[in-house]
Amino acid sequence: MLPSVDFRPTPEQLELRDAVRAFLRDDPAVRSRSVREDGWIIGYDPEFSRRLGARGWIGLTWPRRYGGAERSYLDRLIVTEELLLAGAPVAAHWFGDRQIGPALLAHGSETQRAELLPRIARGELCFCVGMSEPNAGSDLAALETRAELRGDEFVIRGQKTWTSFAAHADYCYLVARTDPEARPHRGISEILVPMDVPGIEVRPIRDMVGETHFAELFFDDVRVPRAQLIGELHRGWYQIMQQLDYERSGIERLISNAPLWNEFKTWARDEGLTRDPVLRDEMAQIEIARFAGRQLIYRVASALSAGQVPGREAAAAKAICTEIEQRVARVVAAALGPAGLLEAGAPGAPLAGRAARNLLYAPAYTIQGGTNNILRNIVASRALGLPLS
Ligand SMILES: Cc1cc2nc3c(=O)[nH]c(=O)nc-3n(C[C@H](O)[C@H](O)[C@H](O)COP(=O)(O)OP(=O)(O)OC[C@H]3O[C@@H](n4cnc5c(N)ncnc54)[C@H](O)[C@@H]3O)c2cc1C
Repeated sequence: MLPSVDFRPTPEQLELRDAVRAFLRDDPAVRSRSVREDGWIIGYDPEFSRRLGARGWIGLTWPRRYGGAERSYLDRLIVTEELLLAGAPVAAHWFGDRQIGPALLAHGSETQRAELLPRIARGELCFCVGMSEPNAGSDLAALETRAELRGDEFVIRGQKTWTSFAAHADYCYLVARTDPEARPHRGISEILVPMDVPGIEVRPIRDMVGETHFAELFFDDVRVPRAQLIGELHRGWYQIMQQLDYERSGIERLISNAPLWNEFKTWARDEGLTRDPVLRDEMAQIEIARFAGRQLIYRVASALSAGQVPGREAAAAKAICTEIEQRVARVVAAALGPAGLLEAGAPGAPLAGRAARNLLYAPAYTIQGGTNNILRNIVASRALGLPLS
């Protein structure tokens, strides 16, 4: 059972929200962004991440001795919600803050924590996550990248794909097979690979929008010390499942395109488009769905604050909320019509370019971090006890 949530913010939380808003209002990188959607994917700006880190707003929930602020997951949710609503360029630190930090806290060695967590909290480190492969996506346990332990070193050979931020990252959080004889879910380990070691090749992939935020990643006899292993050898699968719960449960699964939606609502009202009962109804339905989705995400954050890792609720929240994001993209593009395909800022079409970009990007919402089919399987098995074929 998830704990009940008191949705009234405390005075400290209101203060935190006001401080983040004031910072974002004045920050030059936020003010100058022309596309405000998907800031956690395409908004790579290490200087911004450092400014945020200097305020103490990265690693907010972590112990103080590792550079954190020992605040709650609800507090972190307040900060991330404000960042995404403002369209801030948060991509450089996003994975580190969201999942690598918690993974290191749960499974990392004391040396790894002491060395890496304060740097993540200062916004100095960018991570990529090397899970998917050409023949292993939804069925991640089919992964073939091999990390062979030879003495005190891992020797890594294989290929990852769709690796977001691979071209910028300082480290790859790599999932590799360390025991090829074991059953698929066993014999997998997590290894932190510095991206500047010899033998790594990054080949950027261009997506439908024209952006290159992800890449193919090749490992050709890459050597890293055994000390780079995270947690237990061959037991990575169980650690990965927990990491995915963190990856799936955040507010970015609901409000990646909120800047577009919020500006669209004002524009549609000003232009009189909302006199159309069909559009008005669609907009109302989306608002209701967004309200319900937000409550779900707040419940998940409050469970995390209470020390639970709510895997099935996180899966349900991501499946529901990402489909709302896709509805936003469709409704905005349809309402703008051909004007939505014009260049950004064209006369009479203030949201043009951004609406088309978002429509093209939106299929990714229900794929990245695990497809919605897989998330529904998780809900079916973990929440409803249904057998999986
Ligand atoms: C924008 C973006 C960023 C990404 N970033 C990263 C990253 O940083 N690191 C990383 O490792 N990966 C990343 N990925 C990859 C992502 O995790 C995978 O694309 C995803 O897990 C799906 O795997 P796949 O593409 O191999 O599709 P497949 O697994 O081949 O699935 C194809 C279709 O079959 C369905 N399907 C498969 N198995 C089942 C089943 N058992 N039951 C029902 N339906 C099923 C799927 O739902 C899907 O519709 C990213 C993807 C995108 C789009």
